[in-house]
Amino acid sequence: MELHKRLREAYPELRFLDKYNLLPPTVLGLAVYLFGGASALFIGFFLSTALLYHGTFTVNSLTHLFGRRRYVTTDTSRNSMLIALITMGEGWHNNHHYYMASTRQGFSGGKSTSLTTL
Ligand SMILES: [Zn+2]
Repeated sequence: MELHKRLREAYPELRFLDKYNLLPPTVLGLAVYLFGGASALFIGFFLSTALLYHGTFTVNSLTHLFGRRRYVTTDTSRNSMLIALITMGEGWHNNHHYYMASTRQGFSGGKSTSLTTL
């Protein structure tokens, strides 16, 4: 409980985003529309959001079916270079399941092979 309270006090920006979670996408959609009209809104907001979700769903489904398991984990997660290339490193899913606290997912023998760390 004390840790939770300290974390809330340490990150006021995260509390703001949690409270007003619709504000960032609304501002982005409005800004894109004002910048380029309806076609920019479609490409810069709706299409990009749909592609983002498809990338996330692809990682969370296909990398539990295909690829290599570098680390022994209690799940079926796998690393896929093809999906990592398409999703800028998110395809190193077995690495992610093995060490979830790391922002780097493409680690291997002390070398980074992920675009997420560039
Ligand atoms: Zn997973």
